[in-house]
Amino acid sequence: MIGLNDFRLQWSDVRGDALAAFERVGQSGWLVLGSEVRSFEIELAKRFGVSHAIGCGNGLDALDIALRCAGIRADDLVVTTPLSAFATSLAIARLGAIPVFVDVDASGLIDLTQAEQALAETGARFLLPVHLYGHSVDLDRLDELAKRFGVVVIEDAAQAIDAGFRARPVGSVGRLTATSFYPTKNLGAFGDGGAVLTNDPDLASRARALRDYGQTARYVHEELGLNSRLDEIQAALMRSAMLPRLEGWTARRREIAQRYRSGLTSSYVTLPPVTSDSASVWHLFPVLVHGDREAFLEHLRVRGVNAGVHYPVLIPDQKALAARGNRVFSPLIRAREFAEHEVSLPIHPYLTNQAVAHVIDACNEWSGAS
Ligand SMILES: *Cc1c(COP(=O)(O)O)cnc(C)c1O
Repeated sequence: MIGLNDFRLQWSDVRGDALAAFERVGQSGWLVLGSEVRSFEIELAKRFGVSHAIGCGNGLDALDIALRCAGIRADDLVVTTPLSAFATSLAIARLGAIPVFVDVDASGLIDLTQAEQALAETGARFLLPVHLYGHSVDLDRLDELAKRFGVVVIEDAAQAIDAGFRARPVGSVGRLTATSFYPTKNLGAFGDGGAVLTNDPDLASRARALRDYGQTARYVHEELGLNSRLDEIQAALMRSAMLPRLEGWTARRREIAQRYRSGLTSSYVTLPPVTSDSASVWHLFPVLVHGDREAFLEHLRVRGVNAGVHYPVLIPDQKALAARGNRVFSPLIRAREFAEHEVSLPIHPYLTNQAVAHVIDACNEWSGAS
């Protein structure tokens, strides 16, 4: 089966470096918050072009910590997207704050024109955009909105490490940015992991405290924090086995995207537009399928292709959130299009050209009915 990921192929590639990293951590005798995490954080910060990276337990906690550092409190309004991993809004809701959903644009990213209206009309002081599918939102416009409304931007870059918009990298506009190292992400750990990024040294110190029970010094707790530390082993594995390969992986993802874009010709499988200003890292390759999506997925499965759906249910429609306060600012017309018609084709860096050609053929054979 051709799937969304192939962790066994990845292992056969990274094995030598990963085992050496494991050995290094074992030999060091230091397992939590040591020199491996520090070294990884320094490299990660460089990667994002910011001054500070703070490793934590997962992407959800990274968002949670970033939101707390941004000063979000109960009942604050946060303008965000209905089309994302649930974690984006879960982080907001966990703090008692209220997500304000606006529609997405034709690429599936938060519609910044609607976000602007929502900021103007609701008085929300926080904006949480998601660089979905590996596409950067318009960072110039985001920056302009942040300045004009004086709102605090927190970027969700879980799917978009190394992506950019024109000359700017993701993570360069938000006061804080959160990312995830869940294994399926472009930079994945061997389990859970995440990081907060910021240029502000005070916010960085606070994030460091928050990931470690709110400790500012040993046994000194100035606020109620989390236990959300990145393990030495995960930091070592990522720094030695994953980060050195990330550039090559991203290049391969872009190559595959190009093959899909020129090879997919069926009028039943269309490509959401991506502006040429966006240097996407193609975390996912979304298409919109006309006809019965379940039948299309089955059509692919029969041909040995396991595709995905990102995401079948809009966040405001999730029961966990419906029970709490959340606001839908404008009709979620495009977001519903994605929820109903989107399919993610395999685009991991270990796919062969032959596999990509096979996926293209399978898609082109689809004629809207099984
Ligand atoms: C994966 C993901 C998260 C959450 O990351 P975890 O490490 O799984 O908690 C948040 N936002 C987006 C957009 C994601 O894709």
